[in-house]
Amino acid sequence: MNELSDLYQEMILDHNRSPLNYGTLSDPDHVSHGDNPLCGDKVALFLKMDGVVIEDIRFQGVGCAISTASASLMTESVKGKPREEALRTMEKFHSMVTEEGGGDFEELGKLAAFSGVRDYPVRVKCATLVWHTFRAAIDGGANTVSTE
Ligand code: ZN
Repeated sequence: MNELSDLYQEMILDHNRSPLNYGTLSDPDHVSHGDNPLCGDKVALFLKMDGVVIEDIRFQGVGCAISTASASLMTESVKGKPREEALRTMEKFHSMVTEEGGGDFEELGKLAAFSGVRDYPVRVKCATLVWHTFRAAIDGGANTVSTE
């Protein structure tokens, strides 16, 4: 394992131990739930919008280290961003974890910590669950999304 993947792994473990934006919001504009039955990950997302800007976002959930760390880093990366920018980040993240050479590491910043999951299809679902849930919340569509 090289130095970079050590650093990435450490970041994932840190965010799993003390996730950012963990909790609920008292008056969310959107709530959405995600379920990854393959691994047992469950996540609930709470969004507060200010026009098109994601003013605040929190999550609660149970799951593996990757799903929890992904929720922590995802909420941190979209908070305070306009909806469209957050959705672009989501697309970049998705191509990073599903396509060989995909994603824009520089732009993804800390989210690049998940680049290694591409080699483990089961783990891709753990890492993307919270993003699918985010998409559902922001579209105001289905309240529950499942990876299956
Ligand atoms: Zn998982």
